[in-house]
Amino acid sequence: MTDSEVIKLNCPTCKKAILWNEDFPFRPFCSDRCRLIDLGEWASENHKIPGKSLDINIDDESNTEG
Ligand SMILES: [Zn+2]
Repeated sequence: MTDSEVIKLNCPTCKKAILWNEDFPFRPFCSDRCRLIDLGEWASENHKIPGKSLDINIDDESNTEG
């Protein structure tokens, strides 16, 4: 009566409880969708756009009157 120990964990994306076995081929995610979402967030963090700085005064030479 010794069941093999099953690792339980939660999907990093939706926090759904899953088991580390063949029933969840996309582990640690519950589904391929969650896996892609997590990868997308990871990628977007690397390429996140900084807040717009509209306080910069740009001297536009083409606007100078001569
Ligand atoms: Zn999920």
